[in-house]
Amino acid sequence: MYDLIIIGSGAAGLAASIYAGRYRMKTLLIEGEFGGETSKAGEIANYPGVMPIDGYELMKTMKEQGKKVGAEFKDGFVKNIKREGHCFSIQTEKELFQSKAVIFAGGAEHRRLGLANEDALTGRGVHYCMTCDGPIYTDKTIAMVGGGDSSVKSLNLGAEYFKKAYLITMEKDIHAEPINLEHLKEKGDKIEVLTETQVKEIVGDKKLEKIILTRPFKGSGELLVDGLFVEIGFKPNVALPQSIGVELDEKGYIKVDSMMKTNIDGFFAAGDTVNHFGRFKQDITAAAMGTVAATSAYEDVKTHGANACEFHAQIIDK
Ligand SMILES: Cc1cc2nc3c(=O)[nH]c(=O)nc-3n(C[C@H](O)[C@H](O)[C@H](O)COP(=O)(O)OP(=O)(O)OC[C@H]3O[C@@H](n4cnc5c(N)ncnc54)[C@H](O)[C@@H]3O)c2cc1C
Repeated sequence: MYDLIIIGSGAAGLAASIYAGRYRMKTLLIEGEFGGETSKAGEIANYPGVMPIDGYELMKTMKEQGKKVGAEFKDGFVKNIKREGHCFSIQTEKELFQSKAVIFAGGAEHRRLGLANEDALTGRGVHYCMTCDGPIYTDKTIAMVGGGDSSVKSLNLGAEYFKKAYLITMEKDIHAEPINLEHLKEKGDKIEVLTETQVKEIVGDKKLEKIILTRPFKGSGELLVDGLFVEIGFKPNVALPQSIGVELDEKGYIKVDSMMKTNIDGFFAAGDTVNHFGRFKQDITAAAMGTVAATSAYEDVKTHGANACEFHAQIIDK
């Protein structure tokens, strides 16, 4: 029986493991894909107190910190969660664990185009985060696939870096907040919009070389770009929490209060999968939420002590 099981080894889950370990909770973290999105993000240059570092290295350091204070780690994915008897039972591919509290830190994925080569070139020309990776393209040419508000906001943000950008949308028009569109128009020729067009191929060996379009642009079906950004929305990983009745917000993110509590007693959530911080998605915000979730889990288990599970059952049964 663990005091706490943390699901996910991104910034939120790993930060939670450090705090839970320091609270001397008997803690197990089930990793999923180690390091989450950050381990694939390339350089992380905006994590306070850490000079630019490879994302995987940053995650590895966080895990070492968690281990040092006693948290246990297991690789594997959680396949099933149950509120069994008075506790949570957590099933992976191979093992079954029980805990008094759970922190779900399963993250959210940027929706991908689903093209061949996309995964292989992520971080090597293909990107999903202008805040993070825009500076790499200082004085270079990029394409942005999108057409909604976030793609327009990202271009406005990145315009201080790139020399030229093509905004590629499958729609007839761009759908963004008027003020953001005004800012986009202020950029003049720096940004060109290709409507009713999609990217059908991403070409490159070790790095992106060009993209192939479904509709010719200026007489050519291919576009030479240094970077390709994709802003077609997020998909939070919520299937497991949903299976035990965790409530979601209108956009499909897990609803938490300011202490990262869900509607299920003893079940906390943190990071890109929740509706906190206006759904702002960065390592620092994910880590902050993980620390708050661990603190809440600690208070929960401490308050109800050995009877924590019975307490949960009483609340749930009401
Ligand atoms: C290309 C890219 C570049 C980025 N650059 C930056 C940057 O420079 N700076 C910055 O601050 N942020 C950056 N970000 C954003 C940052 O990576 C995310 O905000 C951060 O990863 C969120 O952490 P998280 O723990 O909430 O989720 P994630 O990192 O998504 O981690 C979720 C974890 O949960 C696991 N999981 C999911 N389901 C299960 C399951 N069933 N069982 C077990 N485990 C499960 C996953 O495998 C993963 O380990 C970047 C993101 C991308 C994609």
